[in-house]
Amino acid sequence: MNNSNLPDDEKRALNFIEEIIEDDIRRGVNDSRVHTRFPPEPNGYLHIGHAKSICLNFGLSKRYNGKTNLRFDDTNPVKEDVEYVDSIIEDVKWLGFDWNDRLYYASDYFEQLYGFARVLIEKGKAYVCDMSVDQISETRGTPTRPGSESPYRNRTVAENLDLFAQMRAGKFADGAKVLRAKIDMASPNMHMRDPILYRILHTSHHRTGDAWCVYPMYDFAHGQSDSIERITHSICTLEFEVHRPLYDWFIREIGLYAPRQIEFARLNLSYTVMSKRKLLELVKDGYVSGWDDPRMPTISGLRRRGFTPESIRNFADIIGVAKRDNVIDTSLLEYCIREDLNKRAKRLMAVINPVKVILDNYPDDLVEQMESVNNPEDETSGKRKMPFSKTLFIERDDFMEDPPNKFFRLAPGREVRLKAAYIIRCESVVKDPVTGIIEEIHCTYDPQTKSGMPDSNRKVKGTLHWVSASHAVDVVTRLYDRLFTKENPDGNEEGKTYKDFLNPESLRIVAAKVEPNVAGCKILDKFQFERIGYFSVDKDSTPQNIIFNRVVQLKDSWARLEKS
Ligand code: ATP
Ligand code: MG
Repeated sequence: MNNSNLPDDEKRALNFIEEIIEDDIRRGVNDSRVHTRFPPEPNGYLHIGHAKSICLNFGLSKRYNGKTNLRFDDTNPVKEDVEYVDSIIEDVKWLGFDWNDRLYYASDYFEQLYGFARVLIEKGKAYVCDMSVDQISETRGTPTRPGSESPYRNRTVAENLDLFAQMRAGKFADGAKVLRAKIDMASPNMHMRDPILYRILHTSHHRTGDAWCVYPMYDFAHGQSDSIERITHSICTLEFEVHRPLYDWFIREIGLYAPRQIEFARLNLSYTVMSKRKLLELVKDGYVSGWDDPRMPTISGLRRRGFTPESIRNFADIIGVAKRDNVIDTSLLEYCIREDLNKRAKRLMAVINPVKVILDNYPDDLVEQMESVNNPEDETSGKRKMPFSKTLFIERDDFMEDPPNKFFRLAPGREVRLKAAYIIRCESVVKDPVTGIIEEIHCTYDPQTKSGMPDSNRKVKGTLHWVSASHAVDVVTRLYDRLFTKENPDGNEEGKTYKDFLNPESLRIVAAKVEPNVAGCKILDKFQFERIGYFSVDKDSTPQNIIFNRVVQLKDSWARLEKS
């Protein structure tokens, strides 16, 4: 395939999956079609690992002019729910991908799958077994010791067909019987030791209602569903490599079209967990506010936090696809959103931990409008005006009464520039007589130093952000940090679980003062609070009570901490 007519960002070296696909295209396999799918099970919300898989599958079909289906592998009614279906649809769309009219459900194939099972029975390759699931797993053996054969293994075809029909007709209780493939109880591959194909579950399904009381196992549904949809490249994560011989066996024995399965390493991220079971536990047990809690690695959490689809797609691109399991540093994801918002987010002045500054020589009632660019990275973003007056707020951390030499911010007798305004000089401080906490910093300003004045270019070492006290809007900021204190919260540590590593400081709620241009912002609007970080308007906001989620700090504070 010729790379030259692809956009620049796609002219990189091919990854191993692309190499396989290009080779298939060259050889005319499947008439050189490329058809992938994203097959979630609707038993939880999607997370950043799924985003990786979504970007990969949809990215490949885009690159090779193919198609990608969205298919729900909804074979387990006990754990599945329409809430999850809806959230998954919303998340894939939000990431920017389109399956057109190809939205499918494995449950749509239940009749066909049942027919496939009958084919196996007729060939003497499947049987109804009366052992319990526990007995079955006890008799499976170990990887080094063969399993033992079920006493029901040699039922006749007619008997099996009849029992299977009765299972479907609801004649038996849950767990009374299963349908198993008849393969090889001594196979070195445990998945080949007469795996269960169907189980009895008298449970309503979110789509098929009470039409069925036998449900196919995931392994019996997944590969056949790919086959029914004539998927060419069935891309899945590494743990399915050992299932591949079983999938191939089904396809061969039933006599179906064969997709090609390719495995890649799942995405793991540091300082978080990615198992749906654990994420569900965090939600159910109230460790977070919901699946879309901005600390969650879910797509809905990242969206609420203020991540953009572009930043996540870019992240997926940068990490590429690997054949070996690895852990990606969360800083890389943070880098991607910082890069994106730097180009797009309008700047605002906001003071998170305010202390009052009074300009003693500034006229009492004067209000000047100071001008600043909305985004220095974007020439089209225009300019804004900010009111400036005698009483201001600056960050408490930007002042030190007794500073070290290298402190270039405000201190007694020292000068700083207030961004887009004047140079000021600290003359004195007023403290609370009891607590000793500084209540006011008294300064003088130099009228010759604002833009357009003779000394506007005078240099001082520090530039601070500020807001005018009487004009500032009070907002709430939610300052998020990583959900876990440990790089690998899943890692084995004697007697501990991932919950023992939850970061007690993963959320701090802090009131802040923001310049009046914040008024009128909408949910999910994103801003850079100058010198602080990127913030996104939370969905709980109202015009009277604006709530900001901190997306990410301006610099990589973790990297700095770890180095120091
Ligand atoms: P479950 O244990 O419920 O099967 P799952 O994470 O595998 O959890 P699925 O809904 O089966 O969830 O996943 C849908 C698709 O996303 C699958 O193709 C799966 O391989 C892929 N996927 C899941 N987790 C990751 C991950 N961390 N990195 C990359 N792909 C993933
Ligand atoms: Mg899965």
